[in-house]
Amino acid sequence: MTAPTDFIRADIQAMTAYHVADLPEGFIKLDAMESPYHPFARSPELANAWKDLLAAAPIHLYPNPAASGLQEALRQAFDIPAAAQIALGNGSDELIQFITLLLSKPGATVLGVEPSFVMYKHNTALFGMNYVGMPLNDDFTLNLPAVLAAIEQHNPALTFIAYPNNPTGVCFKREEVETIIRAAKGIVVVDEAYGAFSHDSFLPLAGSVDNLVVMRTVSKIGFAGIRIGYASGSPAVINELAKILPPYNMNQLSLATAKFAMQHVEVINETVLKLKAERERVFAELAKIGAVKAFPSEANFITVRVPDAAVLFDTLKQNKILIKKLHGMHPLLEQCVRLTIGAPEENDAVLAVMRKLYC
Ligand SMILES: *Cc1c(COP(=O)(O)O)cnc(C)c1O
Repeated sequence: MTAPTDFIRADIQAMTAYHVADLPEGFIKLDAMESPYHPFARSPELANAWKDLLAAAPIHLYPNPAASGLQEALRQAFDIPAAAQIALGNGSDELIQFITLLLSKPGATVLGVEPSFVMYKHNTALFGMNYVGMPLNDDFTLNLPAVLAAIEQHNPALTFIAYPNNPTGVCFKREEVETIIRAAKGIVVVDEAYGAFSHDSFLPLAGSVDNLVVMRTVSKIGFAGIRIGYASGSPAVINELAKILPPYNMNQLSLATAKFAMQHVEVINETVLKLKAERERVFAELAKIGAVKAFPSEANFITVRVPDAAVLFDTLKQNKILIKKLHGMHPLLEQCVRLTIGAPEENDAVLAVMRKLYC
């Protein structure tokens, strides 16, 4: 007897689902780079204006992302060049998926570095492409000669560079990424999910470098719940991407919320400044704990090597704090954990547990 599942691709049956942690009541959640602050909770006027907007959103009508005005609002808020075309996605996860699909000719190769964002490799496999992952150096910097050799050898259709990188927080050198963009004949996606927290960006080049697509998201800057990402690049590439994106991939509530957020971009900027200051404070505090090594981060998290990642993870969990254990994901991440930067009192709670364990 054939079971219905026998028709499902064997490679997919062999996969394990992306695990989203469900959180017990009262936990501090520092595992997924969410902002600790609801963006509109700071003032009743702002919150009420937003609620009115949501109440007036035409949820009986299909959304029209292109005509929603969100692209124009993003352009203004984040200085996206006029030469660039913008594609909107239901989170940048969706854009990663469709950019990969766009380039999935039989036998095509996707190049990434390791460790990096797991979705690059996952989508490569989903669309039957070859994945080449070049290991980073021990300090999570780029091994540029190795990456250039891989570009030469495999002629990748698509290269993913997270700038700054996740799950390490390290931002690669700009000149090295520029060299990769120049060397690659295929498309290079510079994924700036953490761009707001970094000193540098490739966004100003979007639209004027043929093979560059700069991807951003509002998830890490206070809006993980509305699922909005955007890709900026040359019209030639983005127009092709637009052909395969689902026509109604965004929803009215998210579009209205994101547009509202862009009109109050100072709310975002203040949160980003606060989290960056917290990141520096936590980094300095971690540096005082001799037993651990924190890697320099330009994101809203810090990756730390500790004496025993499992012990720290469990101890924090007993203290109702959830972080991400990276140990086991890649050899370079041995005994590493990733701490999302939260509100000051949340970060203090983590530091207190670590001091008790290690000092
Ligand atoms: C979080 C993250 C994303 C996904 O962002 P969404 O817009 O929430 O889908 C993409 N790339 C990197 C590197 C990330 O860390």
